[in-house]
Amino acid sequence: MLKMEHVAVNIGDRIVLRDVNLHIKPGEVHVLFGPNGSGKSTLLGAIMGFNRYKITAGKIWFKGQDITDMPVDARSRLGIGIMIQRPPTVRGVSLRQLAAICARGDISVNIEELAKAVNMDAFLDRSANEGFSGGEIKRSELLQLMAQNPDFVMLDEPESGVDLENIALVGEAANRILERKNLSTAQQRRERIKAGLIITHTGHILDYVPADIGHVLYGGTISCNGNPQEMLDCISKYGYQHCIRCSTEGGGSQ
Ligand code: ADP
Ligand code: MG
Repeated sequence: MLKMEHVAVNIGDRIVLRDVNLHIKPGEVHVLFGPNGSGKSTLLGAIMGFNRYKITAGKIWFKGQDITDMPVDARSRLGIGIMIQRPPTVRGVSLRQLAAICARGDISVNIEELAKAVNMDAFLDRSANEGFSGGEIKRSELLQLMAQNPDFVMLDEPESGVDLENIALVGEAANRILERKNLSTAQQRRERIKAGLIITHTGHILDYVPADIGHVLYGGTISCNGNPQEMLDCISKYGYQHCIRCSTEGGGSQ
């Protein structure tokens, strides 16, 4: 689904990421851990193609196509979607209009129904994100993602600023977007296509969305890969320093 090889990313003249390698297969959900400022949002933004992030080396492929130099709207049409950490207020454009733009004329998309699923039906005719609380902004982003229905879904700290009551709702919506539900047989799980990359600090989202592989971003690059829950336990206990030790001791595979 997504492959990155030796990718380096600059913001202005500053090197934020270097030599990033990542391979996400169809049906897989990966989790990205890393301290504040380590470049997690930069990595997601570079995959989406936001022009603030300059890819200075390496290549990104999506569904076998080289998207390294592709503009953001073309990547979105190919099936990449993102829930950004701090989306802007879009004054004068209602949440309903924004969701309709995300749906790109797909008449099977019922915006009212999707808005109800994330408890945002009362917000549809307000300017997108204007005066929304932290949790409302996250639910507004989820509504737009559901309307877009991308094959590859990136969630940047979906649970931050969301109170405990709403965490379950955010988790359910993320599961719905990733089609992680109602897959009871091994056959159904094998046929699952939708893939994702989730940034989480607290790991709360992992209580709802089962993840397959975890990575740690440290020192501008991905330094560890492993079981997401074990990594989260390890980071909570020993901190990110442990990850450097792990990667410098060779391997970097666990
Ligand atoms: P994370 O999501 O892991 O907290 P970010 O990707 O947001 O980290 O940021 C990585 C680094 O890039 C940080 O040091 C941050 O200050 C810097 N950065 C992010 N956005 C900008 C920007 N627009 N201009 C300059 N520096 C930026
Ligand atoms: Mg971030």
